[in-house]
Amino acid sequence: MILIDGKKIAAEIREELKKEVSQLKKKNNQAPGLTVILIGDLAPSQIYVRMKEKAANEVGLKSEIIKYPNDVEEKTVLDKIDELNKDSLVSGILVQLPLPKHIDKKKVIEKISPSKDVDGFHPINVGNLSSGYESTVPCTPLGCYLLIKKYEKNLNGKKAVVIGRSNLNGKPMMQLLLKENCTVTITHSKTKDLKAECLEADIIVAAVGIPELVKADWIKKDAIVIDVGINKTEKGIVGDVAFDEVSKIAKALTPVPGGVGPMTIACLLKNTVECFKRLQN
Ligand code: NAP
Repeated sequence: MILIDGKKIAAEIREELKKEVSQLKKKNNQAPGLTVILIGDLAPSQIYVRMKEKAANEVGLKSEIIKYPNDVEEKTVLDKIDELNKDSLVSGILVQLPLPKHIDKKKVIEKISPSKDVDGFHPINVGNLSSGYESTVPCTPLGCYLLIKKYEKNLNGKKAVVIGRSNLNGKPMMQLLLKENCTVTITHSKTKDLKAECLEADIIVAAVGIPELVKADWIKKDAIVIDVGINKTEKGIVGDVAFDEVSKIAKALTPVPGGVGPMTIACLLKNTVECFKRLQN
């Protein structure tokens, strides 16, 4: 079984980005800039934002975190996004989710200029991805896609099953696999026989949030299995795939942690650099 080492592949991407950012700085006299808006004091959000800032600094991006208290007015946030949209030193804007209940996520996402939407959540980016046009792709599915392509260059005609249909993971993942000519089945909580669907798959991407849902007897021999799940359990962080048993059947599998997670951050940096280049052009 091939252990798909997301940590190593993400480090390679970051190294390449570092070189590219250094060249871009020389050429444009300006570094790509990533601005993150963090609202409230949720511990996981604070950790994610710090990780993003550290990774951005390491590749030479200009990074900035704007913090607001939990009770900040929605208008203050929307006005700030407006200001950042106009700021030529800012190439990427990310508002860390989840937001406090009184702030409308849809309004916030739609306020970010599509050209600076490094999360790829704006409806224009979503529409462009589903139409097969150039777009910014959400970081986690983009990371999964790059991991799959690293081990399987030609996906033509492969059967892929995506477990989960969230806007964040499942739906963009489906689009990326479709673009590669996979025959894609997207499954969800109302799917009648998930095991039977998975048994057909050459590629499985599990983005559910249920610890070790995908078992060894759901897997076709030689399948590629990508585990997006991050679940806190008594035995620590586990994915949506029962790693120990599935690793005996699958051709290739991502570990949790150390699989998709590091790719998400690497792809955020990649998206910021891509946004910068498009804005410069
Ligand atoms: P989400 O928005 O909660 O979506 C979960 C999806 O799973 C939904 O579409 C749901 O179906 C489906 N589902 C629930 N129970 C199911 C079942 N028994 N069988 C089949 N499908 C089922 O979750 P998400 O934001 O996509 O995140 C999924 C997981 O990925 C979580 O563990 C999260 O922590 C992790 N994650 C990891 C990263 C990373 O960087 N590695 C990034 C983001 C998220 P319905 O639509 O019918 O409800």
